[in-house]
Amino acid sequence: MDPKGGVQEHPSSSSSSSTWAGQLQKAVNLNKRHHAHVDPGQDDTYLMANAVNSEPDSGEMALSGRGATLGAKKPREMPMDEEDNDSDYTDFEDELDEFTVPGDMDDYLDDMDEAVDDDQQSTTSTKTTMSTGSVGSNTPSLVGENLENFSLGEGGNETKNRIGIGGPLVKSTEPPLKRSLFSHVPPSINFVHHNEVPETPLPADLRKNLRWKLSTITPAVVKKVVTNSGFRLMRKTCSEWGGTWGKHMKSPLFKDLNETQKINHFPGTFNIGRKDRLWKNYHKLRSKHGKGEFSFLPRTFCLPADTKILRKVWEKRGIKAKWIVKPPAMARGTGIKVVNKWNQIPKTRPLIVQRYIARPHLINNTKYDLRIYVLMTSLNPLRIYLYDEGLVRFASNVYNTDSSSLADVFMHLTNYSINKNSTTYIPNEDSEARHGHKWTLGSLWQYFAEVGIDHKPVWDRIKDMVIKTIISAEHSMTPLNRANLSSHYCGYELFGFDVLLDADLKPWLIEVNISPSLHSSSPLDLDVKSPLATEVFNIVRYHVPNKIPAKSQRAILKKLHMEDLSTLCLEPKLYTRDLSKADKAKQNRMMAFAEDRDAYLDPILERLTPDDVRYLIRAEDEFAHLTHFSRIFPTQDSHKYFKYFQSPRYHNMLLDAWEHKYGDCRVAGIDRLEQLCQEKVHIKVPSANNKQIDVSVLKGPTSDVATTKDLTETSFAGLKATKRASVVAKPLNVKPNFCPISLGRSKTLSSVQKSLGLSSPEPMSMDSDDKSRSPSPRESRGKSCPNELPSNQTTVMDNNDALPFNGPATEALSSNNLNYRSREDDNTKPCIRIDLELSSFQFKTSPSSPPTS
Ligand code: ADP
Repeated sequence: MDPKGGVQEHPSSSSSSSTWAGQLQKAVNLNKRHHAHVDPGQDDTYLMANAVNSEPDSGEMALSGRGATLGAKKPREMPMDEEDNDSDYTDFEDELDEFTVPGDMDDYLDDMDEAVDDDQQSTTSTKTTMSTGSVGSNTPSLVGENLENFSLGEGGNETKNRIGIGGPLVKSTEPPLKRSLFSHVPPSINFVHHNEVPETPLPADLRKNLRWKLSTITPAVVKKVVTNSGFRLMRKTCSEWGGTWGKHMKSPLFKDLNETQKINHFPGTFNIGRKDRLWKNYHKLRSKHGKGEFSFLPRTFCLPADTKILRKVWEKRGIKAKWIVKPPAMARGTGIKVVNKWNQIPKTRPLIVQRYIARPHLINNTKYDLRIYVLMTSLNPLRIYLYDEGLVRFASNVYNTDSSSLADVFMHLTNYSINKNSTTYIPNEDSEARHGHKWTLGSLWQYFAEVGIDHKPVWDRIKDMVIKTIISAEHSMTPLNRANLSSHYCGYELFGFDVLLDADLKPWLIEVNISPSLHSSSPLDLDVKSPLATEVFNIVRYHVPNKIPAKSQRAILKKLHMEDLSTLCLEPKLYTRDLSKADKAKQNRMMAFAEDRDAYLDPILERLTPDDVRYLIRAEDEFAHLTHFSRIFPTQDSHKYFKYFQSPRYHNMLLDAWEHKYGDCRVAGIDRLEQLCQEKVHIKVPSANNKQIDVSVLKGPTSDVATTKDLTETSFAGLKATKRASVVAKPLNVKPNFCPISLGRSKTLSSVQKSLGLSSPEPMSMDSDDKSRSPSPRESRGKSCPNELPSNQTTVMDNNDALPFNGPATEALSSNNLNYRSREDDNTKPCIRIDLELSSFQFKTSPSSPPTS
């Protein structure tokens, strides 16, 4: 590739287009000759030679640890089937159904017990097809890759159950289970790449519990990664499964997931996955925050609703303007055309009409777009990760701006599924090579460097775009998540962001795919997608289902030399969404500071509740698994995005404060959490009794009734006068024995702690002078913390597992056996006023208090 061609060379202003066209033609001819003379066997031999070269000189089994770089040559199979059936896919039934499964294991795809033994050996080279799936398609393929070619070696030389999509498997020195950073948190499966197996396999009695349910779109690379890592593939009708890779489903169906099942989606992500929703959500933020901050999605009109306004804009932009017309929820370039005449717009069905980016950045006069992979592991709090590799997909005809060529889809669209049909399309199989019509992102950055372009500002703008796009739909997605996902364990989402760079290298968001293709029919795809799939699974962490008897668990841990672990299997408590009264009370209290970051940064970390600890250890454990992904939200400065959230979220504030304090000294943060985990604070969940008590939706004090100053400066110890708290709430189940707090049988702080099995909720309250390291609970025990209650002055209600905060009356209130609902929840119920005698300070929950009694 001629580096000079990389700097903006518009065909209209450049003379090199013919050169590039010529190059392309030559390459096509060469390519044709190559295909005419090289038989697949020769190709295979060539690649196998590569594979051999990549092994250690000693000739011994290659040992590979995690973190092999994308560019590193790894043994990989030659996809024997060069044909890509992407465009032929229809939603037909999983081919699995046609297989006969062993009678005594109805659900099992194959007898993986045998495969356990096979995993201990390096398999021999087999001639297999990695994929017939959609390569680089930005859409869900409708069918999974051919399983025949994947696991059931039916070819003459293949051994049954030998994993057969490729060349030799290399042994990974990584253990098959990965420890959590924290005590009393189970390990997770350590996923290996498609061509690896762990040197120490998982014991068979563990593996029989690891079930991966196939779907019609499960890509071969996923099948390989999960089976190499210990899972058994199951029919799609199987109900006892732990993981799956499937299509997006309607939100209510997420309710069917149990707390041990994990799926590659979240409810409601169609809010950015559909082109019309994407625009609507984006447009809301653009209207509120202005074009300065939201100018990365081309102006879009959703017809028929926007027909009139489109007409006006159309006339204003004039006849030279170009538009692109798309169906709102299709993919792979289906139904897309570039137009410049009003009568070219179909009027009969819903459509997206979007401003066409007519001056794209070109490389050798050819348009291209980027496929960027983004992982969201949690919506509330928001945790977003960006993958450092991706795909660059070129159009197959050189670009020009003539109106006469608007109909040339090979010039204007960059979809692989379109361009593969072009006679000028040149495949590229080498992830390090810059030829043909598909590159890796790494190759593009290299190319940029060679032509003097710094890719960092481009990458930074892409990060910004990703964060803003996801936040734009956060408010629509959160209620769907809350209503339909029972556990934090169950979901995650891998997005494919399609990005176009314009002539000024400004990134434009073209669309977001909620089922990006992981199909890999070429080594280049495999080099990007195998480490991607592996890392996604490692970050989201799959646990061993909690179905193994304690005795067997101990035996398994012993076999794996992990006897020191207290637990092997998934602990659902770690992922519970239930909040205790103390959790809720703290959250309500902190929400009053949502608009004032300085006011919550320190206090929110002073006393970590069990729920806080759970959120923080999940975030830290995820963080510890990052290799090619990097976390882009939260970071130390991601709070600048808070203004785009429609409602502030407590857990975003918590993670913001955590990053602020420990972002530069993670070890101290991890140490602090570990102290709490050793005390099992994180597995302390509300009792069934406590769960019924819901004060989570009580309004926290607002500035006009209880100022930040009141709350932050107040401590129980410093206040003597009995004050009256007015609480506006709606009673749900006021228990007959309800009595104001002062009438309850009281305990001291220390006795409550003792009864809870907690020597301290978190006695090492932060020493604000020492930000680098949290004091150890052991060190600080006995010392009085600045905001800690002297135990003889603390009153905590009996029958309450709330951690005693030195906080305001929400906590005191929550100590009572009352159920409350917010006003928003149910406006039909009458309000009552409850006057509580508090031995602390004044507190009101609502500015619009009912009449005083
Ligand atoms: P699909 O989901 O069918 O792939 P896209 O919105 O991704 O639809 O559009 C297909 C292709 O059309 C993109 O890959 C890109 O090359 C081109 N394209 C889409 N929108 C624009 C636009 N606004 N300006 C320029 N090119 C565009």
